[in-house]
Amino acid sequence: MIAEKVLFLVLDGISDRPCEALNGLTPLSAAETPVLNQLAAEGVCGIMDTIAPGIRPGSDTSHLALLGYPPQDYYTGRGPLEAEGTGIHMTAGMIGFRCNFATVDRDGLIIDRRAGRISGTGPLSAAIREGVDLSALGVGFRFESGAGHRAALALIGEGLGDRVSSNDPKKEGVRPLPIRACSDDPADEKTARACNEFISQSAEILAAHPLNAQRVEEGLPPANFLLIRGAGKMGTFPNFQERYGLSGSVISAATLISGIGKVVGLEHIPVPGTTGSVDSDLDAKVEATLGELKRKDFVLLNIKGADEAGHDGNVVQKRDFIEVIDAALEPLLALPEDTLLVICADHSTPCSVRDHSADPVPVVIRGPGVRVDRTVRFDEVSCAEGGLNRIRGCDIMPIILDLINKSHKYGA
Ligand code: ZN
Ligand code: ZN
Repeated sequence: MIAEKVLFLVLDGISDRPCEALNGLTPLSAAETPVLNQLAAEGVCGIMDTIAPGIRPGSDTSHLALLGYPPQDYYTGRGPLEAEGTGIHMTAGMIGFRCNFATVDRDGLIIDRRAGRISGTGPLSAAIREGVDLSALGVGFRFESGAGHRAALALIGEGLGDRVSSNDPKKEGVRPLPIRACSDDPADEKTARACNEFISQSAEILAAHPLNAQRVEEGLPPANFLLIRGAGKMGTFPNFQERYGLSGSVISAATLISGIGKVVGLEHIPVPGTTGSVDSDLDAKVEATLGELKRKDFVLLNIKGADEAGHDGNVVQKRDFIEVIDAALEPLLALPEDTLLVICADHSTPCSVRDHSADPVPVVIRGPGVRVDRTVRFDEVSCAEGGLNRIRGCDIMPIILDLINKSHKYGA
């Protein structure tokens, strides 16, 4: 039998380094993970440098690599991917940014970079869309609220560059920075001017918005300023389905990952109750994934949470959340026979580093035609003994395509 469907599960940042608090084990190896272990036992395992050995991946660059879009050819910054995930339809040449609603005091000093972790900013974004006018600069824009205090901006127009600085000083008690062109290219200067104009016009609109007056009355920090960063020019991405002959969906609570899926042409399937954190409704995500596999050939499922615990340096929370993930994955043991299951991480997020590291991640492929090896545990060390040995992120799609008989012969 040859598999026809592919479930590609990315356990974001699940791998780690040995932790003192766990007697030298990693959170993944210390966790009780009967489901992941069984899947590893039934499949072929290995370890993977999602970009290349020694390169610390971002979640964006690593996901592009895993989907077979080498980031060195396709990555143009986080902004455009984040904007696409927030719901802005990005087309080639648009300049995308990530934004935060923030709070400045009467003197213009930033007192909260996340405006008290405000949520429900839809009316504020609508007022900005309505009121801001950049036409004098020959620039149009799109602006959408994201989750919580987040939002995204895209600039549209001729001759816009993406080499501009951020206005976010990354600390409180100081003034926001002016946005500057990072070159003397007139295109970058035009973008910097448009950003500064957008920021000052939106600040006026936000200061006068009734929702903010209400927040002040309730003793909450008003969302009266926008911090913007992550500028990038939207590129072109060959369509996933045309490239691989596979229809596909992406399920992820993280806008960055759903944005990456969308720019390559995967359909984003929102799942209510998922948060991208340790309180996410994983059962709902897994159920939605199994439903999608009935309609589509390929489903990318990203489960965050473990990455967040790694960033927080919280060893015990990371280990415990891995056990929650494992329990939620139980339905995968009974996947239809025609489904190839791939499980990996997009990078390691060691609790000792509180950020991503270049340590290779474990990977397992399970399904028809797979040469089952002797690895019986899904963890960083056990998988290193598996039959896939050590591969790179860009190898995984070719391996998948070969296992489902969709790869092209090289030579005669
Ligand atoms: Zn990640
Ligand atoms: Zn991370």
